[in-house]
Amino acid sequence: MSEIDLSKYETRYFKILDRDDHGVYRTSSNAQHSDLKLRYAKLPYLEQFMPYLFQLHSNKPIENAYCPNCDRKMDRIDDDYNRKIIFMCTHCK
Ligand SMILES: [Zn+2]
Repeated sequence: MSEIDLSKYETRYFKILDRDDHGVYRTSSNAQHSDLKLRYAKLPYLEQFMPYLFQLHSNKPIENAYCPNCDRKMDRIDDDYNRKIIFMCTHCK
């Protein structure tokens, strides 16, 4: 894995779109630098807080999603302790 300078890392947000024929949620590749509009519109979205890690923000259950950066399926990690759902892209890692 290459070195990542997190001090220069900026959190980005990606809108979650519809499911495809395989039941996997597509995500917008268009990064947003604020989640204000998405939260206001109550739209599901991913918060990329590290280069290959995304926290899910959604009222509805979303079991799987494609990576906004490489468009491949991500792994879902349930963080029960913090009550967070994290998606990890092993392809981008
Ligand atoms: Zn990826």
